Amino acid sequence: MSLTELETFESLDPATGEVLASYPRHDAAAVRAAVERATEAARWWAELGFQERKRRLLDYKAVLTRNLPRVVAMVSQETGKPEGDAILETALAITHLDWAARKAAKVLGRRRVASGLVAMNMAATLEYLPLGVIGVIGPWNYPVFTPMGSIGYALAAGNAVVFKPSEYTPGVGVLLAELFAEAVPEQPVFQAVTGLGETGAALAGDPGVKKIAFTGSAATARRVMAACAQNLTPMVAECGGKDAFIVDAGADLGAAADAALWGAMSNSGQTCVGVERVYAVDSVYDEFLRELTKRAQQVKAGEHYGPITMPGQLDIIRWHIDDATGSGKAIVGGPESVRAPFVDPVIVTDVPEDSRAVREETFGPTVTVKRVADVAEALEKANASAYGLAGTIFSGDRKRAMELARRMLTGMTAINSIISFAGVPALPFGGVGESGFGRIHGADGLREFTRPKAVSRQR
Ligand code: NAP
Repeated sequence: MSLTELETFESLDPATGEVLASYPRHDAAAVRAAVERATEAARWWAELGFQERKRRLLDYKAVLTRNLPRVVAMVSQETGKPEGDAILETALAITHLDWAARKAAKVLGRRRVASGLVAMNMAATLEYLPLGVIGVIGPWNYPVFTPMGSIGYALAAGNAVVFKPSEYTPGVGVLLAELFAEAVPEQPVFQAVTGLGETGAALAGDPGVKKIAFTGSAATARRVMAACAQNLTPMVAECGGKDAFIVDAGADLGAAADAALWGAMSNSGQTCVGVERVYAVDSVYDEFLRELTKRAQQVKAGEHYGPITMPGQLDIIRWHIDDATGSGKAIVGGPESVRAPFVDPVIVTDVPEDSRAVREETFGPTVTVKRVADVAEALEKANASAYGLAGTIFSGDRKRAMELARRMLTGMTAINSIISFAGVPALPFGGVGESGFGRIHGADGLREFTRPKAVSRQR
């Protein structure tokens, strides 16, 4: 079947429901063809070497930067997020691309390894070689930034990429690949395939794909893993979170409230590292809640952040708000905060720890706040989650905060600041438990898309 005969699907404006464009539903045969093209391109790209690849990736960066208004407009249209947020995410994506391009040679290039073989008069080297074709499956909430955290690093490590964007943001994925072809026209080193879940499943199950970088929900990660299992294809899984935010004695409560509000409400709460549970120690609880409430009352969906992008997500948010307000005490908003497709901020206290609103990812601008006796109880409750992506600690005691951070069961913890890991290319990004496994970003993120090659040689 030729591509023109493929079925199509439409992307929609989440705020109005208006049809934006239509895209092909790439089936398994179309995915196979893309992976075959990518396999050829991967050989060529790997042979270019680090310096030439760096030059090409910096050309891509220049093309992306020149086309920033187009990318930002597409992100904003497809997700509904305000232009400023779309600019921020695209700028962060470009920062990661730049970092990966510049650091790949140092992190992955061949080096001599001091080894126990010296006594046998042997030398050893280690280098990190590309895998071939990487399949990237991305979410809709940060449709440029999140996939670029895999795509940029996979390309810099010498791989070709076939990218399946979310069905809600296909235009962004297609545009990213088209702009890459302006910088690297010779071979299809970076292609996008569009479609619904079955397209992603075909990519994960394709024998030519050497690793899958998946970002999405834990439920989908399980299905992707099952598809990967057919060919023993390894996978990086960046899944959801239920991030805890601990407020300790001596914390700057104004700063803590600012950070909690930003963490809970930015991107309408549709953020994997979004603040969803706050645990404040008894001595600061009342004042912290007052500060947070004051701020949240000034925030309105549609003015300060956009709509909920995915219609089905509204139902989950509604269930969680009903669940939280049914058993707890609504401080800001409540069920009436859901004005589809917008959701105003919701703060609920005294919600039982075993309730759905505390256990499951809400992915909306809602947060539960709980009074705890001390930081030991806060940590115990924070760690009781099945998720373990990121967490935050505000404290007046630096030593105690560091110790708490180390004992927090997450991949990332921020002290006395908002969670800013996504924007820091040098730090690995990822979680534990239901939040997934493997790491993107940083040196670990580059190595994810390689195979270590050890060579020993008799002198
Ligand atoms: P999702 O529903 O799990 O979908 C993610 C991607 O998987 C989409 O491209 C989706 O395609 C595809 N997919 C669906 N079924 C598949 C299958 N059987 N095989 C292969 N691929 C399949 O997640 P989402 O709603 O787009 O994103 C929200 C989730 O992502 C949240 O849980 C959030 O926390 C998480 N997230 C995590 C991070 C992180 O770095 N840890 C970053 C951002 C988001 P369709 O769209 O066509 O279904």
